[in-house]
Amino acid sequence: MSETDATSGPSGTAASDPLTPRAAPQVAGLAAVLREAVTSGRTRPRAYREQQLDALVRMLLQNVSQWQAALAADLGKSEIEAHLTEIGVLVAEARSARRSLRRWMAPTHVIAPLALQPALAKTVAEPLGAALVIAPWNYPLQLALAPAIGAIAAGDAVAIKPSEVAPATSALLAKLVPAYLDERAVRVVEGGVDETTALLAERWDLIFYTGNGTAARIVAAAAAKHLTPTVLELGGKSPVYVHRSADLAVAADRIAWGKWLNAGQTCVAPDHVLVDREVEAELVAELRRATTEQLGDARTSPDFGRIVNERHVERLAGLLGGATVVTGGEVDGASRYMAPTILTDVTDGAPAMQEEIFGPILPVLPIDGVDGFIDAMRGAEKPLALYVFARDADAVRRVERETSSGAVGVNVAVAHVGAGNLPFGGVGESGSGAYHGKASFEAFSHRKPVLSKPTAIDTLRLIYPPFDQQWRRALVQRILG
Ligand code: NAD
Repeated sequence: MSETDATSGPSGTAASDPLTPRAAPQVAGLAAVLREAVTSGRTRPRAYREQQLDALVRMLLQNVSQWQAALAADLGKSEIEAHLTEIGVLVAEARSARRSLRRWMAPTHVIAPLALQPALAKTVAEPLGAALVIAPWNYPLQLALAPAIGAIAAGDAVAIKPSEVAPATSALLAKLVPAYLDERAVRVVEGGVDETTALLAERWDLIFYTGNGTAARIVAAAAAKHLTPTVLELGGKSPVYVHRSADLAVAADRIAWGKWLNAGQTCVAPDHVLVDREVEAELVAELRRATTEQLGDARTSPDFGRIVNERHVERLAGLLGGATVVTGGEVDGASRYMAPTILTDVTDGAPAMQEEIFGPILPVLPIDGVDGFIDAMRGAEKPLALYVFARDADAVRRVERETSSGAVGVNVAVAHVGAGNLPFGGVGESGSGAYHGKASFEAFSHRKPVLSKPTAIDTLRLIYPPFDQQWRRALVQRILG
């Protein structure tokens, strides 16, 4: 990267704008203050949005080592992981939005029906207004700013509430965002439940929440009071199905990578593996090999992260029962370490199968073919992601068609999130709404239909009363086809 850490004040638009207020964020009335930036027209011009997206990229690139240090403090993220899953993702997302903005903002024309001709029919995207983004701790930078990129691109104003569970990243966002972005339209409000509760009492035009389903229900109930639409990005137990036709070595490499990334604290991490019974032993051996190859001694590996806090270490330690630990199992609360752990012989009712694991524990359970997998999925909540590893095209097709999930990865785990032009979101218990790329722009916009007719010829006169008998009959016939 050519742009390195800034030692002096960065050159964002807000920094040079003398009108920009510098006061600490106020929660009461904040939505109205931010909405004013939209209704006044300030955030609408494409040039303004482009400038803000450029400023956001500068904020990321000019402070790389500060972001890395914060992510390392919160989650023990390595430099590479910080680039791969947080900073780099955001730079790519912001640049892509910047490049695509003219196209996204252009009206979409459709053909008006004959009965309404002559007429022009189109949709125009307008900003929703003031958006609230509530972020979780596991990708504390990416999940705070990626929705904000959508909001800025759409011409909205946005308040970002980072997760208090990742305090170093939260504090850095609160420090750098006002230094680079227009404070009239983008604010960071730090805090936990109290601050979020205060924010939720405000009337927003969209609430974009990422996190667990329990808090999502609180968010949705608060949004309902103001008829505010929500995007809910939630989680769940994302399963992996390994068919007997799979390339087991490749499957193991990809599952292990997706699972051990961020120490398993990824919303789309493979939660557990369901494998055709006849290849279970071979897959488990391959998973052990892949884990050793990728991380060696995970405790000293610079590439393996830490659990976010001791409370979560304790929660994860409680998920080891009712199964055989074939590798891993070591837990150290003080250093927030949990070893990459593979479980087999998972009993009915084993704790790891009762909730989303969200840590480096991978239960492997035998299953009887595609039918067995599809049956299991029918009885489960719809997950955020579902992965199938198979070379048998029919098995893949059946899984794709006969199961429901936020997304499907075929012979990949987690990597689908990197396809920035694919919408990302859940269904059912794993959430509603989607974002990334153009889907982000759409999520933060109202697609307004516009029908416009010339007045020179009034064809609508044909449907004005009074109707004589003959015309009445002709009209009814025409309407009913
Ligand atoms: P968290 O504890 O950081 O909570 C998320 C946000 O909700 C935080 O900003 C927090 O302050 C707020 N919050 C918590 N309790 C609240 C309450 N009572 N009222 C109002 N706001 C409240 O993060 P988490 O929920 O533990 O995150 C992990 C979960 O998020 C997992 O289920 C994971 O799968 C899911 N997740 C989903 C995605 C996705 O993109 N779909 C991404 C990451 C994580």
